[in-house]
Amino acid sequence: AEAPVDEVIAALAVDVPDFPTPGVLFRDLTPVFADGPAFRRIVEGLASPALEDPRAAAVAHADDGVPGDPGFDVVVGVEARGFLLAAAVALHAGVGVVPVRKAGKLPRERVAADYALEYGTASIEMHTDSLHPGQRVLLVDDVLATGGTLAASVALVEELGAVVTAVSVVVELAALGGRDRLAPHAVHALWTT
Ligand code: AMP
Repeated sequence: AEAPVDEVIAALAVDVPDFPTPGVLFRDLTPVFADGPAFRRIVEGLASPALEDPRAAAVAHADDGVPGDPGFDVVVGVEARGFLLAAAVALHAGVGVVPVRKAGKLPRERVAADYALEYGTASIEMHTDSLHPGQRVLLVDDVLATGGTLAASVALVEELGAVVTAVSVVVELAALGGRDRLAPHAVHALWTT
């Protein structure tokens, strides 16, 4: 039998103390992404929030029963490690992918949100025309820490009139309270630690 996905991730992730600043235990997932079977497992897991999360299921199947409907119309990925995941999840689900970028990268009309990180502060942006009102969004990133980045991303998605059906992450650092910060949005974490 296949190992549970959380065990696969935990076995390959590398903990790096005091990176990028003292006191931060950095969860390096690059070895997970570099492993073909593990990468496939996490992409499939991130794409399937409705299967395991009743709150996501309630939203994802609100218009009920379209065969092959993954429950979202587009995947939004957060720069930079979220990009590696979001494109693969979008391809797997048969939908498109839209980037949330760090300030100064997008060339056209955009919306912006400032937020605090576990370490430092930052600003993120989306193109104003990158989502449409009512579009169902699966929001993807690698690590949920304080939730500041994803909360700001949710705010941008909603400013554009789209609907976050679920937030999927590979790792949730439970002690930092990100899940509560994102409520009432459903958080789907493949490994909670
Ligand atoms: P936050 O906004 O606090 O939830 O931070 C989330 C973002 O910072 C994610 O994009 C992560 O990639 C990165 N991050 C924050 N803390 C960590 C950590 N301890 N290990 C790895 N990445 C982290």
